[in-house]
Amino acid sequence: MTEEKQITQRLAILGSTGSIGTQTLDVVRHHPEELSVEVLTAGTQADLLIKQALEFKPNAVVIGDAGYEKVRTALASTDIKVFAGEEALNEVCAFDTVDTVVTAIMGSRGLKPTLTAVEHSKKIALANKETLVMGGHLVCEAAERYGATIVPIDSEHSAIYQCLQGELRMDVERLILTGSGGPFLGRTFDSLENVRPEEALKHPTWRMGRKISVDSATLMNKGLEIIEAAHLFNMRPEYIEVLIHPQSIVHSLVQFCDGSVKAQMGVPDMRGPIMYALSAPNGRMAEFDEVMPRLTLDMLKQLTFEEPDRDTFPCLSLAEEAALAGGGIPCVLNAANELAVEAFLDGKIKFLEIPAIVWGQFNTAMATGGTRRGDTLEDLLALDAEVREATRRMIDKQK
Ligand code: MG
Repeated sequence: MTEEKQITQRLAILGSTGSIGTQTLDVVRHHPEELSVEVLTAGTQADLLIKQALEFKPNAVVIGDAGYEKVRTALASTDIKVFAGEEALNEVCAFDTVDTVVTAIMGSRGLKPTLTAVEHSKKIALANKETLVMGGHLVCEAAERYGATIVPIDSEHSAIYQCLQGELRMDVERLILTGSGGPFLGRTFDSLENVRPEEALKHPTWRMGRKISVDSATLMNKGLEIIEAAHLFNMRPEYIEVLIHPQSIVHSLVQFCDGSVKAQMGVPDMRGPIMYALSAPNGRMAEFDEVMPRLTLDMLKQLTFEEPDRDTFPCLSLAEEAALAGGGIPCVLNAANELAVEAFLDGKIKFLEIPAIVWGQFNTAMATGGTRRGDTLEDLLALDAEVREATRRMIDKQK
């Protein structure tokens, strides 16, 4: 209804070849009048990036150094500019021709470009939770200073964001994040001793990338989401709860001061939160060709909820403690976890060594003033590098 809906929103999609990136492009494909692609970036998947560039005709693409020659050669006959490397990733976030930056790159590499986009007052459709886990205080402060809007794509946070529309911040009593429980729901700690990466990657309800799938299997993902929610919604972590809901239909809930609870529901499909984030603050995007699945009565009949099992999944408690500790501790948790997950996927460590490694780094940081670290981007990146180095040594010892 509003006029803004008619203006084409120009996107920079960071991480266009990943799970969220390709689903975002699927949304763009079906909304050619509302959305256009200005920039696409990828790390290593040069072939897919080339294919996407030829279809969506962005102004520029960025690829990791190794893929530069290949992409440059393939796009030589077009007027698409080809850049490589980390600095280019930053620069494209500042382009005048970009309205919205979709941050869908995995891990801590998302922090710097997100900050650049915020400092240029872009709208951020945020799908990189590590950015807020590491440097949420810096990002949210900067967003306020530069008038940048951050709209979450993470399904739980999108749900809470939607529930908060039209509400007063002071009326919010607690946030309840739901989680499917992952592929190992119902298992005991000891039974997870020998699980293989393939089993951990089998997420029951969501189609996602590899790192986040393992995080869902350890429940670290839910822990990271507590930290993410604390920053996004300016809420103390003790007022954020986790509820296991295996069907992933209720995406999260907000309880208000009068006892009323709002929940946002839908069939699990990340294109829902993506469309909402791209459309905000202009209501909802008309859904394309009726491909988005509809909730049925049958699905609603089957909803169940249970407490998370913190004994089997110690990563959840670890992340909760990190959220309460604050300072540089969430950054430490995130860095140690990223490397531990990578080592598990590479077959270097066992599944249960993931929490052990994170726990080790968490303890060291707590004992050495980690809560006082991370006031500036430089210190945060230095701390991140220190923890990665220490975690690498720990993993090499484990082998
Ligand atoms: Mg999520």
